Amino acid sequence: MLSARYVGRFAPSPSGDLHFGSLVTALGSYLQARAQQGLWLVRIEDLDPPREIPGSAQRILTTLERYGLNWDGSVLYQSQRHEAYRAALDWLQQQHLTYYCTCRRSRIQQLGGYYDGHCRDLDIGAEGAAVRLRQLKPVYHFHDQRLGLQCIDAALAREEFVLRRRDGLFAYNLAVVVDDHFQGVNQVVRGADLIAATVWQMALYQQLQWPVPSYVHLPLVLADNAVKLSKQNHAPALPAGDPRPVLVRALHFLHQPVADNWQDLNLSQLLASAIVHWQLQTVPKQAGCLV
Ligand code: GLU
Ligand code: ZN
Repeated sequence: MLSARYVGRFAPSPSGDLHFGSLVTALGSYLQARAQQGLWLVRIEDLDPPREIPGSAQRILTTLERYGLNWDGSVLYQSQRHEAYRAALDWLQQQHLTYYCTCRRSRIQQLGGYYDGHCRDLDIGAEGAAVRLRQLKPVYHFHDQRLGLQCIDAALAREEFVLRRRDGLFAYNLAVVVDDHFQGVNQVVRGADLIAATVWQMALYQQLQWPVPSYVHLPLVLADNAVKLSKQNHAPALPAGDPRPVLVRALHFLHQPVADNWQDLNLSQLLASAIVHWQLQTVPKQAGCLV
């Protein structure tokens, strides 16, 4: 029997240009897909118009091309996918797997950051309310293909997170699950800052009765002050000019071997060699999680 083909993806939000940290994520997910003769898809997560920087979606795509990271098929835009998100949400609502919540952020912050299910049985109407998932399948641990067993804080695992925000926008966790499922993604490779999102997304897949993909979380590039390099903290733009030195730096960051004579290789040769040598670092297996 032929095993299902690997399908991976890179899913940037157009809230700024690619920086070294997001390039590392793009490169890692690209190499992981190509090393398995898989498909590598790109999806623009333009779900939150107020946070979008005009022109950045196109600049992200142009940058990926400049680095030789060529994707398969056409780019999917979340702004075109509202009907699919609505359909998934309707289905969950019909199954009584959601409820409306009118709690304010300040109340949840007072609780220490985790929502306590206050509105679960209050039968609140839709007006001005967020939609939350009834959490029936909390994920307390999962196996990361690079990091091994991940044990999750129970309060986080159980949180009944938001599927549609009070302002009517669909939440990232709903959109990403609906889209990854729609695109046939069977492994998600992304930054380790999304481990919390992963356990919620795994729960949501199960409640939608969809197959759960496997996960790889890549190391985060930190700025000098040890915070994640991000658009929000003004990570420097990628340099113009020859993309190869930046790729070499990204490969080193991902602990991949790079030939000493890489300067003799052109861009596609450098990437081809990275694909051949790609090795996901894995940590030794842990015995189990407490709980
Ligand atoms: N769009 C998200 C971001 O740029 C990533 C989503 C994902 O990889 O699942 O942080
Ligand atoms: Zn509430």
